Amino acid sequence: MSNSGMTEEACDSALKASLAGVSGATLSWMESNGVRTPFVILDSWDDLSKVQDNLNRHLPDGLCELEAVSRWGLSDEYATCDRCMRMVRTSPDSWSWQPDWAYIDDDRLCSACLRAEPEAYLAVYRNSQNLLNDSIIKPDDYGYARVGVRFERGLHQGQAADPIRIGRILSEADIDFLFTGVPGQFDVQFWVWVPSADLLRATSLLEEGDTNLDYDPGTEMAKALRGEATPYYKVQTRTISAEEFISGRWKSD
Ligand SMILES: [Zn+2]
Repeated sequence: MSNSGMTEEACDSALKASLAGVSGATLSWMESNGVRTPFVILDSWDDLSKVQDNLNRHLPDGLCELEAVSRWGLSDEYATCDRCMRMVRTSPDSWSWQPDWAYIDDDRLCSACLRAEPEAYLAVYRNSQNLLNDSIIKPDDYGYARVGVRFERGLHQGQAADPIRIGRILSEADIDFLFTGVPGQFDVQFWVWVPSADLLRATSLLEEGDTNLDYDPGTEMAKALRGEATPYYKVQTRTISAEEFISGRWKSD
């Protein structure tokens, strides 16, 4: 992080001074390879110019790019942990992305802060269809055991597992559950976790029960794409211009 001829401390104080008064700029931090570095979150490109102008004033002996003193990103992709101000990514950057943060009582907490409150994190996902991120905490460290069936839901044929039905089967038997999984481009593979003492009962309930949707999403989607009638999917087509495609604006339609 050192800038030409400047100490890290001078860079840090120049950065802080440059952010003062820019309401759309938030000083956060990140850690990479065990080193803590500043991370600035900006509401707009306009805020970036303001910070950069300030930085030029605070470092009169030459232009200094923001990149030289801090990493930065825009607030539609990044936010801060409400407890420790660490940067968290809020928008997916890959098919398999899962949030490494969660809301606990309206506070957004990063993975490190969640690890300090594992029971609160588990409570958010207990008996919910959302996937708990097992890179934050491992359910087996907290008395849960994984049912030995891998479920799949998606648009490849046969991927018809229904987390709502699975949850209903377990709730009716008074068994708590958590889901973990791996999202892909067209599907999600997922696993069910239950308290260890309920593992045998849950396994036989899920093996014997009807855990699938009434229809196969892959088969029905293929029908829809071929123009055949299906009550489950509706395909709408429209032609987009080269400009729309390049700008990415077609995606929000
Ligand atoms: Zn935190």
